[in-house]
Amino acid sequence: MPFRDLALHPAVLKAVQEAGYTEPTPIQAGAIPPILARHDLIGIAQTGTGKTAAFTLPVISLLADQAAAGPVRRGTRVLILAPTRELVVQIDENVKAYAKHLSLRVATVFGGVGEHPQIQALRGGADIVIATPGRLMDLTDRGYGDFTGLQFLILDEADRMLDMGFLPSIRTIVRALPRKRQTLLFSATLSKEIESLTHEFQQHPKTVQIGRRSNPAETVAQWVYEVPKHLKPALLAHLLKDPGLSMVLVFVRMKHGADRVARGLENRGIRTATLHSNRSQSQRLRALQEFKAGTVRVLVATDIAARGIDVDGISHVVNFDFPMHSEDYVHRIGRTGRAHAVGDAISFITSEDTAALRSLERFIGRGILRKRAEGFDYNASAPAGAPAGVSDGGGQRGGGGRQGGGGGRSGGGGGGGRPGGGGGRPSGGGPRGGGGGGGGGGRSFAPRRGR
Ligand code: AMP
Repeated sequence: MPFRDLALHPAVLKAVQEAGYTEPTPIQAGAIPPILARHDLIGIAQTGTGKTAAFTLPVISLLADQAAAGPVRRGTRVLILAPTRELVVQIDENVKAYAKHLSLRVATVFGGVGEHPQIQALRGGADIVIATPGRLMDLTDRGYGDFTGLQFLILDEADRMLDMGFLPSIRTIVRALPRKRQTLLFSATLSKEIESLTHEFQQHPKTVQIGRRSNPAETVAQWVYEVPKHLKPALLAHLLKDPGLSMVLVFVRMKHGADRVARGLENRGIRTATLHSNRSQSQRLRALQEFKAGTVRVLVATDIAARGIDVDGISHVVNFDFPMHSEDYVHRIGRTGRAHAVGDAISFITSEDTAALRSLERFIGRGILRKRAEGFDYNASAPAGAPAGVSDGGGQRGGGGRQGGGGGRSGGGGGGGRPGGGGGRPSGGGPRGGGGGGGGGGRSFAPRRGR
């Protein structure tokens, strides 16, 4: 179905075409018509599925219809609440792109930066306010903002907002809004808590659910390298010798670990930025901008800081530290292969991660290919001061010469012996040939779409 069949305002349709979108994604095709028909909506979809446009396009379109019908009342008509500053900034970028042919005032409100410009923007009577709940409540408590004419409330990543403890602030904010409004709630999962939130805030909502992206195998190729803990930095540097790893998001469990990994890469001459919650808001924004612009090749991030980041063209996600929760894995690898793109996800596995890997394989319903990095010295000894807990990693011995795909541990001792089937794509990770098309020993995902 083309976009023009969705009855969006012509100015919005034009912006969509200029963004290069040809067809709505499933969440857009499902959500846009009921929103335009003025229903409350529950959208179950993760970031990376086009959900931001699923709510911004119809809402902006309805605002454009109002403008065409005559002068509109001053004050905020749309409030979008989102869990993180990064997500607020991204939604703002989306709104501005889709509203470029309209004259709408947009304000962003989030913590970690000076409040004065935000107060000014609220005073100026922004049509659309995009905010994190904490800072917004701070400002509305002090009387800033005019939400008496509010028509649309959007709760984006509602499950995350609950996880982050925002419910009390959200309640306070919503209590001050007109009861007659259209409320759209987006969440990656539909839990009991989310259901009770919809009862509290919505009226007769329609639900649009698109397949849970718990299995991103269609667009993201995934494999693991078993590696002793002390060799993880060296393996990362080794993989980065391949220029095919052009835009790499590296996940590390702890903030100080992220700084250490980044320092190590910088010392090897690899331009790297970090994204974690110890960094100031302006440092985080700069890191994201530099990564997006390609000035830095590697962004090292912790899970919380990377929530919802939307950067096109990430070639590889590297799980330097394997995530403890399968949901986090799915979220992390969803940072590549966004929308209709494709990407690669590489995980480093130590002996401590075996159980987590096995439970991930159960969660996504298939095995993940084990590979060996060609030309990498698995026998290197730990440098002085390296962390303890070195894994023997089963099958990791034997020097660097073995070719990856064929040599990967078959079955890895876990995950239930699904057939290997030679589906490993050529490695985008280690030096070429390492992950080889043969892939005889490893278990693999279904072949993915071509690049
Ligand atoms: P989101 O799920 O909103 O974070 O969007 C993920 C990515 O998909 C963003 O980079 C959007 O620009 C892009 N996108 C959104 N809608 C479409 C579409 N209909 N066709 C292609 N890309 C899209």
